[in-house]
Amino acid sequence: MCGIVGYIGHREAYPVIIKGLKRLEYRGYDSAGVVLYDGTDLKLSKTKGKVSDLEARAEKEISLNGSIGIGHTRWATHGVPNDVNSHPHVSNSGNLVIVHNGIIENYEPLKKELIKRGYVFHSDTDTEVLVNLIEEVKKQDNLKLGKAVQVALNQVVGAYAIAVFDKERPNEIVAARLGSPLAIGVGKDEFFVASDASPFIEYTSNAIYLEDEEMAIIRLHKPLKIRKIKDDTLVDPYIQELQMNLEQIEKGGYDHFMLKEIYEQPSVIKDTYRGRLHANEGLIKMAGIEDNLQKFLNADRILIIACGTSWHAGLVAEYIFEEFARIPVEVEYASEFRYRNPIVRPTDVVIAISQSGETADTLAAIKLAKEQGAFVFGVCNVVGSSISRETHAGAYTHAGPEIGVASTKAFTTQITVLTLIALRLAQAKGTMNNSDFHRYLQELELIPEKVAEALETNLVAQTIAAVYKDAPNALYLGRGYNFPVALEGALKLKEISYIHAEGYPAAEMKHGPIALIDESMPVFIIAPQQEHYDKIVSNIQEIKSRSGKIIAVVTKGDTQVKALADHVIEIPATSDALSPLLTTIPLQLLSYHIAVMRECNVDQPRNLAKSVTVE
Ligand code: GLU
Repeated sequence: MCGIVGYIGHREAYPVIIKGLKRLEYRGYDSAGVVLYDGTDLKLSKTKGKVSDLEARAEKEISLNGSIGIGHTRWATHGVPNDVNSHPHVSNSGNLVIVHNGIIENYEPLKKELIKRGYVFHSDTDTEVLVNLIEEVKKQDNLKLGKAVQVALNQVVGAYAIAVFDKERPNEIVAARLGSPLAIGVGKDEFFVASDASPFIEYTSNAIYLEDEEMAIIRLHKPLKIRKIKDDTLVDPYIQELQMNLEQIEKGGYDHFMLKEIYEQPSVIKDTYRGRLHANEGLIKMAGIEDNLQKFLNADRILIIACGTSWHAGLVAEYIFEEFARIPVEVEYASEFRYRNPIVRPTDVVIAISQSGETADTLAAIKLAKEQGAFVFGVCNVVGSSISRETHAGAYTHAGPEIGVASTKAFTTQITVLTLIALRLAQAKGTMNNSDFHRYLQELELIPEKVAEALETNLVAQTIAAVYKDAPNALYLGRGYNFPVALEGALKLKEISYIHAEGYPAAEMKHGPIALIDESMPVFIIAPQQEHYDKIVSNIQEIKSRSGKIIAVVTKGDTQVKALADHVIEIPATSDALSPLLTTIPLQLLSYHIAVMRECNVDQPRNLAKSVTVE
């Protein structure tokens, strides 16, 4: 995820771009850059850091004139955040410049081919490959920029929103999208291109939102052309009049970042497995795992270290690793692990999970495990974060920036990465038969669609929230893979609505918490149709006999639990091990709506901070 801004028109492009990038900084903030054309030369300035660092640098480094330009605020996926990897990227001839949001999955073979043809690369990014591919196509077939972009994009696999221009045709910007958002602002004798409408809202309220697989050829004083990238058909531009204010636009039209992030889950889960999961070929490719495969295969034990929601993702992973790869797993709170003189052996593999990659206790635990000779693997979201640097190897979750303090998309993308690792190890160890392995890969590929379907429970969740919003306490119960989801459901409710909630393994209820149940206690039960279904039905009976209120998350078409529960929320069927990715969705929505109804500050709950950098 990153932010793109482009401008062409009668104004100075620089202030429009810088202001726009600042508004898009929520999309990515590890580096930033801008390129302008002043009629003679390209003026390029880029730097690791925030847009304010870019501003300070650009103002010293380049003259800021030019009425065409593009800018970028990066959230790195390929290549660490540094000056060279920052966008814009320039083609070898020095004529074409590009900014890109997304991932070009097949950049490696394309890069090799371009190197054979004499191209030189300065950065580690996939984006620099794309701009040179466009250049090569343009040169080979003597094409105009728009055509060259189209031909090149037809060779690309992955996701993108791009803006490109050619200094030899400085009255034109070409923009295109597939899987990443892109809006075009249409003013009088001027155009804007941006990841959302916030950079241009004060100049024009006329916007065109490009659809997937569409590209726009934007020329000054000419009608704007939109074409389908695949078959070249012309599309009538649909210009919308924007009614939203700036803040609404930044939140993508959602009332809160948390809700936006809940709804991003289908697409970010796809981003997480993009380029890693190859269901048709029956392959999982993760560089951090392949390079260290023997360490994992020889491990006597996997120790998972994390805090908060990441710890819950670790618990889900414990069930998955042990089932799939038959490696013993222990899950530890980082804060306990670091202070209790733990036994760590060189034959242990430690997996440290943290959204921000800055969690102080997890960092300290990593250092301790390393001192004791363990191999440490990081699972983080923020590229270039301290944990990603401190660990021996790792895998990013590619969830994009998470702004809401209560983690949602970080949780599901962490589970996705950990599932991919478990599957790869199961394959390498031969602990899963081939047909199950293939089935899991195919099912994983269907998860984004099913998460989207699970999000359709929003209205039901809202209705249920209205009934229980004033409850002083709540219980969350689940079994097996969904026991950690019960813990996570309770944590979400506590964090943002300040209702006291507890998560338990459903069968543990009899050993204490059942004493709490009466007609005023809502009990959220995760009861998809899977192994232990009958057991959980019995648990529901036990609660019902004590007049507890039952809100059950069930598989679509369920009748047995439905007959017992006060409310049900239906989610699509999937295999047991993948079910946490779906069952957690309605629980996120329930907590969200309850918090909103209680007028709590959903994105910034009291007493909490997004990344806990103190112990
Ligand atoms: N894949 C590109 C990079 O790592 C773009 C990432 C983004 O969307 O910011 O530079």
